[in-house]
Amino acid sequence: MTKRVLIAGFKHETNTFSKLPTDLAAYKARTYYRDDEVASKMRGTATEIGAALDAAERHGWSIRHPIYANATPSGRVTKDMHDHVTQAIVDALKADGPFDGVLLCLHGAMVCEHDEDGEGRLLQAVRDVVGPDVPVAMTLDLHANVTDRSAELCDIMISYRTYPHVDQYEIATQACDLLARTMAGEIHPKVHVRRREMLDGADHGRTTSPGPMTEALATLDKLLKATPGTYAGSINAGFPWVDIHDTGPTCIVTGEGDNPAHAQIAEQVMEQIWRDRNKLTINLLRIDEALARVKTALAQGVSAPIVLADYADNPGGGGYGDATRLLGAMIEADLPDAAFGTIYDPEAALACKNAGLGSTFRLELGGKVDPAVQGGPLSLMGTVTAITDGKFAMEGPMTRGTRVDMGPAAVFSVGRIDIVIASARYQNYDRMYFKSMGIDPEKKKVLGVKSAHHFRAAYGPISSQIMVVDDGGGVTSRNYKDLDYKNVRRPVFPLDMD
Ligand SMILES: [Zn+2]
Repeated sequence: MTKRVLIAGFKHETNTFSKLPTDLAAYKARTYYRDDEVASKMRGTATEIGAALDAAERHGWSIRHPIYANATPSGRVTKDMHDHVTQAIVDALKADGPFDGVLLCLHGAMVCEHDEDGEGRLLQAVRDVVGPDVPVAMTLDLHANVTDRSAELCDIMISYRTYPHVDQYEIATQACDLLARTMAGEIHPKVHVRRREMLDGADHGRTTSPGPMTEALATLDKLLKATPGTYAGSINAGFPWVDIHDTGPTCIVTGEGDNPAHAQIAEQVMEQIWRDRNKLTINLLRIDEALARVKTALAQGVSAPIVLADYADNPGGGGYGDATRLLGAMIEADLPDAAFGTIYDPEAALACKNAGLGSTFRLELGGKVDPAVQGGPLSLMGTVTAITDGKFAMEGPMTRGTRVDMGPAAVFSVGRIDIVIASARYQNYDRMYFKSMGIDPEKKKVLGVKSAHHFRAAYGPISSQIMVVDDGGGVTSRNYKDLDYKNVRRPVFPLDMD
């Protein structure tokens, strides 16, 4: 018999240290699709919804997809926005039900104005309609802060296993296949979650080189294979810029029935993550150190671009995307053949658009959202060398095919640096952020990007060197002790212990 499945997505990685509220306008600025639009915009993309649409076809499901909403990381999700999406899902469950199963594509680090566990609150609303017996599967980002409430309310929970997150399609496919087996009555999964007293761990989940995350995943896989009745296991590195009780890494195991041996797997993996808590695979530099290295490399005649990444102002983690210290230092160093992208400044983008292509003038750029933290605006003489509507589709590998709308966008060239100015906050993890603006990143000697790690998927293969700086100003710095945590459980690593 044809199974009826409700598929929905509501994502947010909330940075509670950001002062930007996340409302409907913030979702509409990035991704907000309703009903048929969900399928028409997301089919064929390397995302969870893309995978769910394909799985539905493969399994012959009759599906309903009322909403897919994803906003760039920022401050707390407003109560109105959370209520709005919850209502859209609840209405569809009631109007078109009963359903045999539910798939929710979430992030796992959503904090609302009225609830520090945005996912748990949504799941409870879904359970209130479908009851305890309809299977609910949930996909998460590996930077989820998983709560016990969420784990208890769903039957299947699977997170990405890669950072950069290039396996979104694969993990959703796995979730859908397990959901199909559960709906058929073949399996009866239960989710176990375990944590330690840590704010951040597993090297923040990095899988670009061997380290704590890849080793913990190897341990997890060995234990899953050796233990009967396990269906899936994930490691969440946690999202540390969230001041809630449960912030931090978790291991989640989905297995048959309520088997203590499955919880024990998660315990063992967390023990390893705790033991490796001080191991990192990256080295964060100061801007002056990085630029000294860039100059040396340029003097030696590097053949491929050097990438400079602004860790502390990563819009992908809630950074405002307009911190100016790294860009200012690159301009001062007068780097040859350089590009920087993107900097968030709708006012400046509009000024470029109004002035027109080829105009030369003085522009006050960036540093406007929170000048005290972000370094304040730069006053720059330059020329407008490109103007676009800011729309393109990502080429991948991460979220290939996903549509981006930066709003009015421009390239303002200062000396030998081309600066991409966007009207919306985006993390630059796809070469199209440059290419759509007429800049060929492969032909540049230096690229500055607002991204902490995801940029490596697109830029790693074309770069000669990568340097990550963490003193550019912003709300995603690794200096956790500088942040004013009030709600996280204490004591917690690394705030209270080494
Ligand atoms: Zn993530």
